[in-house]
Amino acid sequence: MPKWLDAEVVIPDNDHENRRFFEEQAGGQLRLPHCQSCDMMHYPVRPMCPDCRSADIDYKTVSGKGTIHSYFVLTEPIHPAFYPHRDAPVALIELDEQRGVSKGGDRTVQPAEFRALRLVGNILREDGSFEDPAQVGIGKRVQLKMMDLGDGFGLPQWTLADEPPEGRVWQVPGG
Ligand SMILES: [Zn+2]
Repeated sequence: MPKWLDAEVVIPDNDHENRRFFEEQAGGQLRLPHCQSCDMMHYPVRPMCPDCRSADIDYKTVSGKGTIHSYFVLTEPIHPAFYPHRDAPVALIELDEQRGVSKGGDRTVQPAEFRALRLVGNILREDGSFEDPAQVGIGKRVQLKMMDLGDGFGLPQWTLADEPPEGRVWQVPGG
């Protein structure tokens, strides 16, 4: 059984789309569902492309670089595994790929402006502990820090990147 923070991570056997997503991450690189018909990537996982309705989905490796689009600080955790980790920053990461207007090419479906790929994950330090929420803010740049959950599963997490932020950084007041 894969584990994180000493808690079992339950991914049911019959949840084929989500099992495959976490298995695709086991190699350490961020991989996302990629429609073979229209060339668009999507997340969350689903059995059908949300852009062209094709069921011909494979996976594609992306850079693992992105920007914090939004975030919150987990002050009152419900799951016991998080009790020792109060004030864990949880962020919505907008990936560098497939942002904004189309670059053209052979796509049969063109991404609309602000059609983005966004994943939820924790912001961690290099040693795997949770980042200080005072360091986290909307607009800050992040990079992938893949967590090995064991049993052939990986969980995408994030660290702050040594890059200038996108625009003015916004932080939770008093956070
Ligand atoms: Zn498609």
